[in-house]
Amino acid sequence: MTLTAYSPPRNIAAKFKRRATQRHAARPATLRFDQPILSISFDDFPVSAAEHGAAVLEAHGARGTYYASAGLAQTEGPCGLNFSAGHLSALVAHGHEIGCHTFGHEDCARRSALETLRDLAQNRDALAAMGAPAAAQTLAFPYGETTIELKQSLPPRYRCARGILPGLNVGAADLAQLHAYALFGANWRGNLRHALKRAAKKKAWVIGFTHDVLAAPSPWGTSVSELDALLTQAQALGFAILPVNEALDRRRP
Ligand SMILES: [Zn+2]
Repeated sequence: MTLTAYSPPRNIAAKFKRRATQRHAARPATLRFDQPILSISFDDFPVSAAEHGAAVLEAHGARGTYYASAGLAQTEGPCGLNFSAGHLSALVAHGHEIGCHTFGHEDCARRSALETLRDLAQNRDALAAMGAPAAAQTLAFPYGETTIELKQSLPPRYRCARGILPGLNVGAADLAQLHAYALFGANWRGNLRHALKRAAKKKAWVIGFTHDVLAAPSPWGTSVSELDALLTQAQALGFAILPVNEALDRRRP
């Protein structure tokens, strides 16, 4: 989310292009795992994700992925105040992953791949200047928006990129646009309950994404109790709960 809660165009041409982009696997891969995996990711990211979100994960012995946009750092957005340098080092010290969410949080489908590549480098340098100990190895596209050209030209330092199209990550996959489920919105708990049951049978990788984590979250956030209930359900079904980069390490060769 941005300060103004931008939403990408929904006209026919944009939808057609989005569908073609999703269908084009720029980094085709076959994903197989020995057990089902759940990754929880926090986009932008608000202070409450670093504080309450991390506490909920850690209470389950789990860690998450924080997709940071350095250009949003210390700004007030629709999901609350965003992170500062201290949150990066505290999260890393506790074993969480810092991923890249671009510097400026622009719609990557509405600018050239070259502009986005410059922006990704800017985010890497800005996060390093804020004390992030290593360059991000995974990426999440703001609003889930990307292009075939961008997917094809992602720097090799990114092991994978995440979109926002729901689905299980197993079997034939595109590491340049992994599926993910929103942990907010209408009936998200029902959707996740169903997805986790299917994923448990298929030993699939489920990625969830959210923003703020509060007792009473924004429309783009998750409540503390519902996040806790989701993790409880996943662990009861035999899921490993891992940051995105560690989930990739669990791929069967
Ligand atoms: Zn975002």
